[in-house]
Amino acid sequence: MDDLHFCGDFNNQISIDEKRLIPHIKRFIECAVGAPEFYAAVHENTAGCASLLQARGILGVDPVQVAALMPEIVSELPLLKKVPAAELEDKPQALLWQRYADTIARYRVTWRQLREKTPSNLFNAWRQRQINRCQSQLSKETNQNIVHGTIAFELSKGCSMGCSFCGVAAEPLQEVFMYTGENAGLWQDILNVAVDRLGATVGTGTCYWATEPSDNPDYLKFVEDFGKATGVYPQTTTAAPMRNLDWTRKLLRFRKQHSTAMDRFSILSANVLNRVHETFSAEDLALTVLDMQHSASSVRLRAQSGRNRNATGSPQLELAQDHTIACLTGYRVNMADRSVLLISPCPPSNSWPLGYRVYAAGNFSCAAELDDFIGETIKKCMPGQVSSGDILAFRRDLDFIALPEEGFQLQSKYRLHKMTGSPHLAQLGRLIARGNLTFWSVIEELMVQHKDVLAIMSSIQKLFDQGLLEDGLSDESDLRGGKK
Ligand code: SF4
Repeated sequence: MDDLHFCGDFNNQISIDEKRLIPHIKRFIECAVGAPEFYAAVHENTAGCASLLQARGILGVDPVQVAALMPEIVSELPLLKKVPAAELEDKPQALLWQRYADTIARYRVTWRQLREKTPSNLFNAWRQRQINRCQSQLSKETNQNIVHGTIAFELSKGCSMGCSFCGVAAEPLQEVFMYTGENAGLWQDILNVAVDRLGATVGTGTCYWATEPSDNPDYLKFVEDFGKATGVYPQTTTAAPMRNLDWTRKLLRFRKQHSTAMDRFSILSANVLNRVHETFSAEDLALTVLDMQHSASSVRLRAQSGRNRNATGSPQLELAQDHTIACLTGYRVNMADRSVLLISPCPPSNSWPLGYRVYAAGNFSCAAELDDFIGETIKKCMPGQVSSGDILAFRRDLDFIALPEEGFQLQSKYRLHKMTGSPHLAQLGRLIARGNLTFWSVIEELMVQHKDVLAIMSSIQKLFDQGLLEDGLSDESDLRGGKK
């Protein structure tokens, strides 16, 4: 296996043999997750499945060791068991995989932290407000997977795949933004605008959204420019790894040259998994995560947004009720039709069936117009505080609970927010809960009894910063108490 840019010291701590082994352990786990007959065979006769492993191109893996990480119930895959290192002393291969997975998880956290701030304080505060709101409205598991990237580019209009479960309801493919001289110039200017406005955070972006990267034959040329402008060669997910093998091989080679991220293949069936494994070696796929969209656990946890919005039939789907695949708190820029949206994740709802809120929409014909759009939306959509004429109300999905003398609590489906410790809080909570008073009338009412206006304003700012105040974008059907 090539050294992984993101594995840092881990690369130096393991032997060449261990480096060679990791892609094969990875393939073993892929088979266990994505090929039910493989999992059943390993489960039934773990020590006697050598020929099965060989047939899948898995070399050097001791199934007894790695199977120690498998859950007993197949529907719990791909979540491997976290086993204490002390219990894996006699299973060095399982330990190696666990260390490798931990290294990647740590890298992701550090990588995101380095790219959290844009040059705009208003944008940063707005993004943090959206993150706080998401932590209140979405489950811990969903939040862990949301990067809150600040920009995503689409290099075609629509998607050729037409997946029945598409969480963003991608339209059919209509247009591809090719790397012509004129388009390349526009693209490079747009990247410069993005970096000027959003700084290092652009590196967390992608060059796809509701699009399939392989629909664009020039995709890697755009990604190359993105890498030069940001220093990050962004992650690619393709749901069509077998459609154009030449394109896929170029993607795999490109990633080996620029190992700043791992790419993903969305695997739509066990048959596709078999073909991918037959076509590409474990080493070829060392930097490619295979995302088993067809596995029982993926189906169970699929976001109920987009074309999957009305999926019914399994009580387990309840688990995914508030899940969203939207991971952008920023600008979605389509280069083919030159449209731009300012969006942020939210639970799928009647108002927001795609699992994200739309704060602003626009069009651009050149990089300067995109720059204007970003500048204007920062001014209009990202106020630093509540204005005196704004109506103060709690988010509609919050349940207000008065704590007489002490203050109040706001209960969302996932979080309890407590405001206590100052004498004005109990009355402040009651006034905001009325939902029809302006900021200034709330202040005036409170000042009859409480003279510390700065403390009152600071409490309102805190509620605002935590994303607990209604900003006019809640779903119409949201009721207090988190019921929908
Ligand atoms: S899930 Fe992805 S590949 Fe499938 S239709 Fe939607 S955008 Fe296209």
